[in-house]
Amino acid sequence: MTQAMIDIRDLKKTFGQVQALKGLTMSVPRGEVVCLIGPSGSGKSTLLRCVNHLEQPSFGEVRVDGAPVGFVEAGGRKRAMNGRELAALRARIGMVFQHFYLWPHLSVIENIIAGPISVLGQSKEEAVAEAHRLLDKVGLAAKAGAYPDHLSGGQRQRVAIARAMAMRPKVMLFDEPTSALDPELVGEVLHAMKQIAAEGITMMVATHEMGFARRVAQKVVFMADGRDVEAADPQTLFDTPKSERLRHFLGQIL
Ligand code: ADP
Ligand code: MG
Repeated sequence: MTQAMIDIRDLKKTFGQVQALKGLTMSVPRGEVVCLIGPSGSGKSTLLRCVNHLEQPSFGEVRVDGAPVGFVEAGGRKRAMNGRELAALRARIGMVFQHFYLWPHLSVIENIIAGPISVLGQSKEEAVAEAHRLLDKVGLAAKAGAYPDHLSGGQRQRVAIARAMAMRPKVMLFDEPTSALDPELVGEVLHAMKQIAAEGITMMVATHEMGFARRVAQKVVFMADGRDVEAADPQTLFDTPKSERLRHFLGQIL
């Protein structure tokens, strides 16, 4: 069996008295899209934040492409990553949040090429060429020279996706990327995400967009109360939910 791109084993996270994650095990095969659905407070954001070590797990392990997230293994020993190592790790794990702040004083293309030049050491020509390719992918070829203030929320979110992809990440994490958008702007962002998924990048997406989950995900995980209650391919999960909790959740939102 080939190694999963993301491997999560018995992950627990507590905040004081709150058990946000209560022992979660899941893996995402290379190139697949997993959608996380579930009520607010079920632990979706905490799970994503543990994958790029914005949160440190209380217990359990996260591996990305075989390497433990937040730790360095050498000679059978394991130590916590230092700041530089964590920054390098996060550069390879793209994340798009509900609100994503672009640098307002930089144009769209300058926002995208800054990281690849300064962090990845790409030449300006290489970074610009890749930025144009990605802008085309997310449907913003005409906006390379625009400034963020002049873009709609949906356009800004698509720039954020292109900017994350420009870092050539191993995985892309999305935390409710369309939740803050006006309804008429949601579709264009979901379409951009679909285009990105078609490039074969491994994705974990917390979303309330069931249509997207159904069309794009290979697997959907229903989370409730810090646990993965039910997981299956979208058709099985949405058409034949097993647990009362999932039936109730789907009944509320569909
Ligand atoms: P979701 O993204 O599914 O809405 P979250 O992962 O944000 O869920 O939250 C899961 C639980 O953990 C909630 O009870 C939330 O209040 C709690 N929680 C999340 N982050 C923190 C934090 N930094 N401090 C304290 N509690 C938190
Ligand atoms: Mg959340």
